[in-house]
Amino acid sequence: MPETIIAGNWKMYGRQPSIDALTAAIAAIESSATVIVFPPLVYLAQVRQALQHTHIQWGAQNIAAAFEDGAYTGEVSGAMLADLGCRYVLVGHSERRQLFSENNTTIATKFISAQAAGLIPILCVGETQEERQAGMTKDIVMGQLQAVIDMAGIEAFKQAIIAYEPVWAIGTGLTASPEQAQVVHSQIREHFATIDGTIASVLTLLYGGSVKPGNAAQLFAMPDINGGLIGGASLDADSFKQICQAV
Ligand code: PEP
Repeated sequence: MPETIIAGNWKMYGRQPSIDALTAAIAAIESSATVIVFPPLVYLAQVRQALQHTHIQWGAQNIAAAFEDGAYTGEVSGAMLADLGCRYVLVGHSERRQLFSENNTTIATKFISAQAAGLIPILCVGETQEERQAGMTKDIVMGQLQAVIDMAGIEAFKQAIIAYEPVWAIGTGLTASPEQAQVVHSQIREHFATIDGTIASVLTLLYGGSVKPGNAAQLFAMPDINGGLIGGASLDADSFKQICQAV
């Protein structure tokens, strides 16, 4: 069975007092899902301090592409993230692909670096509005996945999570309907099944893109949606709690 996960991506938001308030509220959330938060890197130690004795996990929004510590000014290695108690790292978020020019090769390298440091990558994939309108959703999403499968190998997906995040739904208030999301999720699972049926059957597939308390339950009820990657709504403890309890 895939694990059910609700992950909160705090993006580049927060200051020490608001991070304290958010972690305190999230620590009290009860959910049958594994709950993970992704604060900005500079607040990871603070979040670890607040959450280390709770059931809430934390991870990083980014990782250096290079394998080891070294002369990479401004970068943060997987070993450093592990040192801060991270178990997870986001890789390939559309904001990194679009705003920071990360391509499939960079993303596959980061995926491999994460696993080399003992971290579980959450690999984000998704199409733009133009690509969906052109009927290219499946090609784009499977192409993004295959690039990582080609470099990391299929076995690597025993310790990885995938988040389908249509770019047109991220931070826009537009959400894929549960049926639209399920179509892509089942295509992803089928794609893996053509390579390795066991991995396909246990792979956790998250949906991300304007998930809110009002649409979470319908999305999570779909057979191939195993939880969510939540952006904006994860910054509001009450909304995030409702989403965590909608699984
Ligand atoms: C995200 O940042 O991964 C995301 C899905 O954002 P939002 O929920 O705000 O659309």
